[in-house]
Amino acid sequence: MTDVVHLENVSFSYGEQPAVADVTLSVGAGEFLGLIGPNGSGKTTLLHLLLGLLEPDSGRVELFGQPVSSFDQGERIGYVSQGATDRAETMPVTVREVVRMGRFAHAGHSRLAEEDRDAVDAALATVDIENLAERRIGSLSGGQRQRAYIARALASEADLLALDEPTVGVDAESRDAFYQLLASLNDRGITIVLIEHDIGVVTDRVDHIACLNTQLYHHGDTESFVESDALADAYGASGRIVQHHH
Ligand code: ADP
Repeated sequence: MTDVVHLENVSFSYGEQPAVADVTLSVGAGEFLGLIGPNGSGKTTLLHLLLGLLEPDSGRVELFGQPVSSFDQGERIGYVSQGATDRAETMPVTVREVVRMGRFAHAGHSRLAEEDRDAVDAALATVDIENLAERRIGSLSGGQRQRAYIARALASEADLLALDEPTVGVDAESRDAFYQLLASLNDRGITIVLIEHDIGVVTDRVDHIACLNTQLYHHGDTESFVESDALADAYGASGRIVQHHH
């Protein structure tokens, strides 16, 4: 089966210092991958590379078997950036309108049929924000916005979700609820790639781990990661910074 994401020998630097060096990594359909590593270890850069938001200095990136540079099925990907900031927030649009944009991306026509309206309602219901549908997107909390963007991805029938530290600044209870939502989406077959700074949280919830510190120190199922030395290696042998909280 074609991998959802495939990176081969991918390197990128912003200036002199490499941010991502020689990373080879595949994400199969239906995987739930946690991308971890210390602060400044290249996690966001790697996510941007795999989404085609940055072009690698060298190496190859494919999405759903297509070179990312010519990938033309953007509706298949839902991306929630760090802090859930989005262009939509600068516009006076409601949550329902934001989610409907996902439906346009999928259906590609300007008049929404009944079926599209149902898809928008279903997406709002799945992420449990029906009560916020008529609110302006810019007026929502960070956590609520995350859900709105996930609903937009669901409305466009995305089968890859990429999330950059979605639960920063979220209390433990809301974080658990959020991870429950992700687990239910993953159960439906949606592939998830997620950056999470709290290793204790992530190892309990994902099925694969990629541990990065410019280079990839480990990539494999969660069990093999927990049993490996990758954590100490990637975070420095002192083992001081095995978990850090913002
Ligand atoms: P992480 O997500 O793991 O915290 P990043 O991918 O954001 O790491 O950053 C990796 C490295 O690249 C860091 O040293 C960071 O300072 C640097 N970096 C990130 N973005 C930029 C940028 N736009 N310009 C220059 N350097 C950057």
